[in-house]
Amino acid sequence: MTSEPRRLQPIEPLSESVEAAPVDLDRVERAVKEILLAIGEDPDRDGLRETPNRIARMYEEIFCGLREMPDHHLKVTFEAGHDEMIMVRDIALASICEHHLVPFIGKAHVAYIPDAEGRITGISKLARLVDAYARRPQVQERLTTQIADEIERTLQPRGVFVMIEAEHLCMSMRGVRKPDSTTVTSAVRGLFRDSAATRYEAMRLLDAR
Ligand code: ZN
Repeated sequence: MTSEPRRLQPIEPLSESVEAAPVDLDRVERAVKEILLAIGEDPDRDGLRETPNRIARMYEEIFCGLREMPDHHLKVTFEAGHDEMIMVRDIALASICEHHLVPFIGKAHVAYIPDAEGRITGISKLARLVDAYARRPQVQERLTTQIADEIERTLQPRGVFVMIEAEHLCMSMRGVRKPDSTTVTSAVRGLFRDSAATRYEAMRLLDAR
């Protein structure tokens, strides 16, 4: 019995990455000024005068993922005939917790096992993908899932493994005030989910850091 070669599905736009409007800088500035007044500060004092404008421009930068189609980063693939695990460790990650609008900062580790044709993507493309999803209001669990789902959907690999370790400033600075605690999330697909040996191999590579 012969089997049809597997074909890559056409890439469809992600429902959640709708074209977002550009950041309304004036509106952010006005809002930040309001917040400063509301907490009893003087937005006109020297140190704060430029703050609303600085924050507006910063938000434009750190939320630029809202105006990006993450799958663009994985569109370029190569037939490398490589069918073993590829892991990119320690991808620096900075995102913003959507519940408190303060950062969570850490690292992402991404691994996948290419499809039967050994189709791979550029290593830097994986880092760009992490960034595209990190640069928007997020929760770590969803960020982890989105990265895994995007790799699975676009590359159709035989397995995907994503792990994120991050410190949440909303936990370090407020509430329970537990600095240095790390939240770890993971998403596994395909062989990494079905085969304990494959999952173990990924964990071994991570532990070897
Ligand atoms: Zn938070």
